[in-house]
Amino acid sequence: MDNSTLVDALLEMAYALEFLDDNPFKAKAYVSAARSLSEIATPIEELIDTGGISHIEGIGKTIAATLKAWVKDHDFSAIKELQARLPNGFDELIKVPGLGMKRLKVLHKELNITTLDGLLEAINTGRLSSVKGFSDKSIAKLRGSVQTILDYRGWFLLDTSWDWAATFVSLLKDCGGKVQVSGVCRRSMEIISAIDLLLEEGPEMHDALVQRITSMPDMQLVHDGSVLVATCPGKPPIRIHTVSQAFVVPALFITTGSDAHVDLVNRHGAGRSVRVSHEGVFKDGVHVPVRDEAEIYDLFGMRYLPPEVREGRPIEMDLALSSNAPEFIRQEDLKGLIHVHSTYSDGRATLTDMVQGVYERGYSWIGISDHSKSAYYALGLSIKDLKRQFEEIDELCRIFPSMTIFKGIESDILPDGSLDYPQTVLEHFDFVIASIHSHMDMDRASMTQRIIKAIRNPFTTILGHPTGRVLLARRPYEVDMGVVLAEAAGHGVMVELNANPLRLDLDWRLMPDFTSKGGRVVIAPDAHSVSGLDDMRYGLAIARKGLLLTDSCMNTFSAREAMEAFKTRWS
Ligand SMILES: [Zn+2]
Ligand SMILES: [Zn+2]
Repeated sequence: MDNSTLVDALLEMAYALEFLDDNPFKAKAYVSAARSLSEIATPIEELIDTGGISHIEGIGKTIAATLKAWVKDHDFSAIKELQARLPNGFDELIKVPGLGMKRLKVLHKELNITTLDGLLEAINTGRLSSVKGFSDKSIAKLRGSVQTILDYRGWFLLDTSWDWAATFVSLLKDCGGKVQVSGVCRRSMEIISAIDLLLEEGPEMHDALVQRITSMPDMQLVHDGSVLVATCPGKPPIRIHTVSQAFVVPALFITTGSDAHVDLVNRHGAGRSVRVSHEGVFKDGVHVPVRDEAEIYDLFGMRYLPPEVREGRPIEMDLALSSNAPEFIRQEDLKGLIHVHSTYSDGRATLTDMVQGVYERGYSWIGISDHSKSAYYALGLSIKDLKRQFEEIDELCRIFPSMTIFKGIESDILPDGSLDYPQTVLEHFDFVIASIHSHMDMDRASMTQRIIKAIRNPFTTILGHPTGRVLLARRPYEVDMGVVLAEAAGHGVMVELNANPLRLDLDWRLMPDFTSKGGRVVIAPDAHSVSGLDDMRYGLAIARKGLLLTDSCMNTFSAREAMEAFKTRWS
């Protein structure tokens, strides 16, 4: 089990204990253990083996024993017992923003509400108005939150999906299976409703596998035709396709998809009498064995396309058929990153820790950008704080001589489109990320104008999380992105690809057109903790999906080139 699955399980224990009115200190202990664990990159299994687990702050003997039972003995009885005492639907109710455990308990006690649908019904029939503590205003807000959750029911973020897929891959490998991730998860789609795994057929695997999967807490296993589907509340369903060894490679290509991409490839292949299907790859009607997907593309006379790219856009074919198309972006191409918060605003790690974290991850430059003063909710920096931060950055440049540390700011775009801080302050930054954090419900024309004004501000270097979406929670602003991106490209303002799996904004679908107009993108972790820096991997996957090539991606620049890029605005 990976760390994030364990964090989720600890939180689940905490919520359950709190709801069931068990010892409140016990619930708190699970929350703080989850918090500590979420900051640790080393696999917990390793820490259990080495005994390092006992040195982690917030993890006492009881919780260490629980973790050991989960990880080493696959014994989930502790969590299973609690789950059995919870009402069905609790896992969804706990996610409603602004509801909180106290009100959840009141709803349960007074109206016997145990599900999201039950809550919506109580709102719509007016029953909720009779409960003390629920004003008309808070009920209206609650209705919106519940509706949003219902709209996205059954969908999951990329980080949850990757972690859950990894848990299953190692579980199937434990049972001796040869397994690969396929489908939308392999294509790194930003939201996912199911994970496809491809399992090579093996003798007597089935029983061991079924037993191992059903030993996990709350797990259901059903057959959907030939596909084995494992479901667990709060996690994407896992669809296990069993394929005999001879058909693994074509099956991987077909199930990875997308259907539109497979179709494009086959249509291109028609001219060369090549075809790929679940039955294999055929040339002139004769079956051709293939060892990997690169051989499939080769038979079609195409360059290998990484899974993220395969969305069925004509431009993919242009790239695959061009003899001199540049390489798709890889982790080793990324030399630096921007958009890093620290304890100067709402970050959880110090400036030193964040710089150290970036250094340890092999980057050679970093752009610090805490929140500007208007972002009071995020402890935005006063001008006095800024002076202090600049001095500390200068000191860090001495401590990390091989790193270039840029001084930046994430400046709020105010409702009228102007930037936070006067010009006399803005001119001291190496770069300015202009982002919207308030007044997000403007009409389309006003919002578009507001962002255009921010782009035209000569101090704006980068447009931060440009559509403002929070995946599965908040829709993008009403804004004309065509106009905004044309304006950004025209003024040489870079556009952020925010790598936080909740955002992944700029949307990859808008990237090819933007970069074809000369627009540049910068992948940014928007990190508020050291582990948040690792969100770059989601950004990288989405960048590849957006067909971002090295020359349009600022992270591939050297520190000197990055400085040039910050300075270059076409005014
Ligand atoms: Zn922001
Ligand atoms: Zn930020």
